[in-house]
Order: sequence, then structure tokens, then C-alpha cells
Amino acid sequence: MQYKIMGGLNTMELKRCARCGKFYASDVEVCHECEKKDLADLSKLKGFFADNYISGVSKTEISASTGISARNLNRYLGYEEFAGIYIPETDFGTGVEGKKAEGKVSL
Ligand SMILES: [Zn+2]
Repeated sequence: MQYKIMGGLNTMELKRCARCGKFYASDVEVCHECEKKDLADLSKLKGFFADNYISGVSKTEISASTGISARNLNRYLGYEEFAGIYIPETDFGTGVEGKKAEGKVSL
């Protein structure tokens, strides 16, 4: 989350990279170095959904097939583009049982 202060100086906020934890100044979710890794992971993830996706496949299986870490996978699956994909929430201990996402899958 980021908040812009209106009416003052245009201050670039320091954010913490969602991937490596490094502080950086940007308006995206991850730092510059991780942005490339994110893009590579996302293309693998999209490829996985396009080629191997079976409804109800667990995050553990996706993680094992794509090599994407559980933490990153959780972050990507929160993206709007994956909103229509149903993934059981049970295996990473999120406490949310089988959250069914509504929407259209557009890959
Ligand atoms: Zn980073």
C-alpha cells in the first residue's frame, strides 16, 4: 500500500521490496532487480496455467512445477489477472479454506 501526500512536495516514498525486502524508491511493488525476476516468474506462472492447469490444483503443486516460491506465488495470485483461477487455500496455512474467486480468467 502506498499513500500520496497531496498538496505538499512531491516526495518519493521509500518502499520495501515485496521480494527481497530491500528498501527502494519506486511506485511499483518490487525493486528494480526483482522486477525482472517477477516478470520471469509471472510468465512461467501464466505458462503453467495455460498448459497444465487443472481446476483445484494446489499452490504446493504450482510452486513445485514452476519453481516459484510460496511467498511469491501468494503475491502473484492476488493479482487481478489471476482472479478467476480457483486455488485451494489450504496448503500454505493461510487459514482461508477454499476461497472461490469470481471472475473471468484472462491469460
Ligand atoms: Zn527486490
